[in-house]
Amino acid sequence: MTSKTPKHVWAVDNKAPATLDYALAYAKLGWYVLPVWSVDDHGQCRCGRPNTEKGHKAGKHPQSELVPHGHQDATIDEQVIRDWWATDPDAGIGISLADSGLLALDIDPQNGGVDSLAQLEAEHGVMHSDCTAVTQGGGEHRLFTADDEMTYPGTLGKGLDLKHHGYICVAPTLGPSGDYKWQQGRSPLSQTRPAKPSPLPQLIASKARPPVNYSLTERGGVPVATAQTFDDLRSALKHVDADDYTTWVNVGMVLKPYGENGYKIWTEWASTSDKFDASAQRRKWERDISTPHSITYRSIFRMAIDNGWAGNSNQVPPQAATTPDGKPEVHPLSLKNSVASGAGEVNVFEYVYEDFMSTGVNVVAGAPGVGKTTLIVPMALATAHLCPHDYTLKPAVRRNVIIITESVVQVQRVIYSLYSWGYTGMQTRDFDERVRVINAQRLDPKIVAQVAEEYKEWTVDNEKADGTYHAALPLVVFDTANAVFDLENENDNAEVGRAMAYIKQAFATFPIIIVSHTAKALGSSESDFLSPRGASAWTGDAQGVYTVFKDGEHQDAPRVLKATKVRFPTAFAELTFDLVSNKEQHKDVLGYDKEIWFSHSVARPLKPGERTQMKEDRKEQKEQEQWSKICDDIIDLVRKDAGKSRSYYERLPVAQGGVKASQERKERAVTSLLNDGSLERIELEKPQGRANHYLRVNEEVVAAIERGKFGI
Ligand SMILES: [Zn+2]
Repeated sequence: MTSKTPKHVWAVDNKAPATLDYALAYAKLGWYVLPVWSVDDHGQCRCGRPNTEKGHKAGKHPQSELVPHGHQDATIDEQVIRDWWATDPDAGIGISLADSGLLALDIDPQNGGVDSLAQLEAEHGVMHSDCTAVTQGGGEHRLFTADDEMTYPGTLGKGLDLKHHGYICVAPTLGPSGDYKWQQGRSPLSQTRPAKPSPLPQLIASKARPPVNYSLTERGGVPVATAQTFDDLRSALKHVDADDYTTWVNVGMVLKPYGENGYKIWTEWASTSDKFDASAQRRKWERDISTPHSITYRSIFRMAIDNGWAGNSNQVPPQAATTPDGKPEVHPLSLKNSVASGAGEVNVFEYVYEDFMSTGVNVVAGAPGVGKTTLIVPMALATAHLCPHDYTLKPAVRRNVIIITESVVQVQRVIYSLYSWGYTGMQTRDFDERVRVINAQRLDPKIVAQVAEEYKEWTVDNEKADGTYHAALPLVVFDTANAVFDLENENDNAEVGRAMAYIKQAFATFPIIIVSHTAKALGSSESDFLSPRGASAWTGDAQGVYTVFKDGEHQDAPRVLKATKVRFPTAFAELTFDLVSNKEQHKDVLGYDKEIWFSHSVARPLKPGERTQMKEDRKEQKEQEQWSKICDDIIDLVRKDAGKSRSYYERLPVAQGGVKASQERKERAVTSLLNDGSLERIELEKPQGRANHYLRVNEEVVAAIERGKFGI
């Protein structure tokens, strides 16, 4: 197993990797790293300033020559990281949290954090994370996954800070009062069992506030102000204390680059304080705050948000729900844009594709080409009870099914196959009423999430035991993730994590299936698909992960769908699929008769040991086929090239018309054919050369065996 460990995961216990290796390993996890100073052997900050200097966070602060904007410059870019650590191989490592989709609960025992935590946990339950570090000074960092766009309060109580739009230091950074290290068994870099940050505890999740929208446009890393920006700044400044001197100066510095517009906003805000003095204000602006600085108006927004600013209500939401002519716009994935289920019509093009099902957000991962549509569409339709009434996988609760697909035609054909198969006992109308097929479009995950509002109205009332009704939400299938979610990089864990957060939030109680391609080419090795890294970034945040793979080398080897990560025990760990094909006469696009093959797969649970047995059966069958071919070829050869001795047929090279097999196998085949009577050995009265016999085909025996084989 260890040989399969990804190279970037270091055995930090038994090797001595360089700090750079750590930084690269974090980046590979999708964690955004930045260089911080760390301390020297004497515990002094390596930046050269005394540790005790006011405001100096010894060892922990960013190296501003390398990252002028601090943690906002953090990156996962390998080359940038290599350059930074080439400049300073001993630099400590900071992780920019929100960028990495993380939130840290910082427990500081020196400020009463342990007691605060004990109280909270007694009331709200343990806030555990699988991924936890010991910090310098004996505290703890518990890491959780968090939506980077949400905001969280800065603290939960005394000595108990929440860090999200900021950074933390991680191993092997050294601080003046000790180093940062991962707890035993909770390290994300462990070679054997890399720890993953746990989901946010309920208490923290409940405090999340939606993202605050403000306009921030940057050119070359420099914020550019627009009219909307000034409007937003006015709104934000209402939440910033105008009485504090340092804040007054800082806000002035931020606004200075915007000339008189900036001065006007600064003055409007400052004049709300009793300390406001118009002439001092002008003087300060003209003389004292012209020094170059790195803070931008972003920091005003940040301050305002921390003080409870919820964004500028004057802002027009980017997804304005009207078209220029004033009509309500129809969402691109609206049911209004759905097409027929496919049961009632036939298309003549032939493809192969896929989908699947369960509750919560499930990811079905499989290599491109494994045949996911034929496998998963029929399974998904079973949730709408469009399946045989005694079908093993038929769920008790009936739901409608929405399939958003990159190939409508393929889905329709699979559904048609299921319909025309007949065993579902369902009419075209039943399919049309319970299934919607929608053409996928690549959209921002935020936009995709908005359609949940409409979908949640399309429920099915299921009668409960007490006579009341349960309105079941539809199953939504996203086929594939790549066709629906517009992401810059589908393999970027942080970006996929954000998309997942939107889906989880909007479709909180829906059953969802996201079909995802794995990066690997179609192989037969099960293990290729079962490692989370080999699968896809989508599987990381899913509530259920299922992998589809081909169980064997051959194109037609059985497909297996395996539950690789589920939240609760499943009745079956693995399913296999029986392929159903049928042929019908239809007209092609030109109106001519054409035979069309339809196929779909019917999933069924695999019995224990069945996979091994199936493999052995296939192997045996294949060997049997090869053996039969050798025997048939020898009979043919004896027919065509009659009257030769046994050794002639056994030794004749393929190039001269001989049978393609090893001489040993040919010898055994001839023996077998002589034994069953297909061949006869005729002795010569007088040897010809070295031969004293020849072989002959007994056609009657061959025909009789042939008839027996086919049961005629
Ligand atoms: Zn320093």
